[in-house]
Amino acid sequence: MQKKKIVFLFFLIGVISSALLILSIFIPSMNVDVSFGDKLLIIALTVILFYYYRSLNEDRQLMPSILSIESLNQKERDKPDISFKDVAGLEEIKEELQETIDFINNSFKYKKMGAKIPKGILFHGPPGTGKTLLAKAVAGETNSTFLYASGSEFVEKYVGVGAKRVRTLFERAKKEAPSIIFIDEIDAIGTRRNAESNNEKDQTLNQLLVELDGFNTNETVIVIGATNRMDLLDEALLRPGRFDRHIYVGNPNIKAREKILEVHTKNKPLDKSINIKEIAQKTTGLSGAELANIANEAAIIAVRNKKNIITSIEFDAAIERILAGLEVKSPSVLLKEKNIVAIHEAGHGLVSKVVNTDLIQKISIVPRGHALGYVLKFPDEERYLFTESELLHRITCLLAGRAAEEFKFKEITTGAKDDLNKATDIAREMVCSYGMSSLGTLALDDIYIRYNYDSIRLEIKKITDKAYSEALSIIEENSEILYEIASTLLKKETIDKNELDDIYKKYLKESTLAT
Ligand code: ATP
Repeated sequence: MQKKKIVFLFFLIGVISSALLILSIFIPSMNVDVSFGDKLLIIALTVILFYYYRSLNEDRQLMPSILSIESLNQKERDKPDISFKDVAGLEEIKEELQETIDFINNSFKYKKMGAKIPKGILFHGPPGTGKTLLAKAVAGETNSTFLYASGSEFVEKYVGVGAKRVRTLFERAKKEAPSIIFIDEIDAIGTRRNAESNNEKDQTLNQLLVELDGFNTNETVIVIGATNRMDLLDEALLRPGRFDRHIYVGNPNIKAREKILEVHTKNKPLDKSINIKEIAQKTTGLSGAELANIANEAAIIAVRNKKNIITSIEFDAAIERILAGLEVKSPSVLLKEKNIVAIHEAGHGLVSKVVNTDLIQKISIVPRGHALGYVLKFPDEERYLFTESELLHRITCLLAGRAAEEFKFKEITTGAKDDLNKATDIAREMVCSYGMSSLGTLALDDIYIRYNYDSIRLEIKKITDKAYSEALSIIEENSEILYEIASTLLKKETIDKNELDDIYKKYLKESTLAT
């Protein structure tokens, strides 16, 4: 970068001097005392500087960011000071990677035995789960050079450019061995090839395959790829000898969440009342990146509130901010719309309470993000298996907002868009992946789905219709509770778990007294 700036500065000086010299030819009164030969020399130098500056820019374009001049000068930065201590949870993955680390640290031991250690590791799983962090930690643990490249950096319009970038990346890795090449979003170059596929992309993938095959055990270079879509990858890439070690990095479980939160609150002043375990319980399904974000957001909120310590109030606000979006200050929601939103959210709250799915923490009609209201739920336990009726109940709760609108106003609104998407997704999974429909106990493959979507849609509709009519009948039977939740929401804008329990219990008691 520095070099480029200096060249540019000289070029600028050259342009100004040349301009003055040229002007002096036409305006003799300027009286510039420079010989004709010197004038020519200055102009020629400016032209050379111009071409040199341009070539510097082109060089940058031909290389991924990691290989640019800027990065080459920062070799120190390429040796991450991140270790496994910074990666919370994921114990089994760290254990699995120990062998790779041992191979890099004691490569002679393996070479002596003629052992070949897998050179390609593929991390797959949802975003933000720590794939990049793990790769950096492997580099940190082995004091290797960490070369980061994103798959999309290799995707180019011009044939051959992507392949050249791959070659340069591997050349540099070999030069600076021991090194870890980390290719994020590898699906951008590694998707399955087919007859109509893009020539440039194929060339890039072919080059990657050649490089993976090309380096031998004398070079301590490990390639780690990461993707959220392993299903899209070309089989050639996953073949033994290439990315043959597949490691799934999923969302953290409760224990891992606790540890991740501990790592990210280590340097933050926390109030003694804060219970990290409780925060971990409230954040089921969130990724490591989202947890890190919550810890950071809580600190920002504390600063905003002029506090010098972070309390559970800031953490709750941070969780809500991440789960439900940014609170809209001074929203311009019409009173009529507010009534509809209150009934809609009350419908969700009431039906969730009756079918007893997840724990409701809060119902609110304060707009956040795109939503005019929301129900904040925390699953009461870590679940991996769901029964068919539990899935149906989830859909029923999702459709309860729309059902409440229909029941109260005999008219439906656009407010249920997000609920409908989520409900349909669950129903589609029930039909296509879990064999929970009259199509039979089988998982449906992509080709069947593509050619028989009408029959699949009918099955999905059967499920959502059933859930919707269940939601409607729960609302009809408990309309008084619905109205009370809605009117409390209109008064207070937000109802917490205890207030909802109180309303629910009050009516239950009244109905038992009446019978
Ligand atoms: P993507 O697939 O979107 O590239 P990723 O899986 O590579 O995401 P990272 O970039 O490694 O995710 O994680 C983002 C941030 O989340 C990290 O910098 C770190 O702050 C935090 N994080 C994620 N997992 C963990 C973990 N297990 N321990 C500590 N921090 C974590």
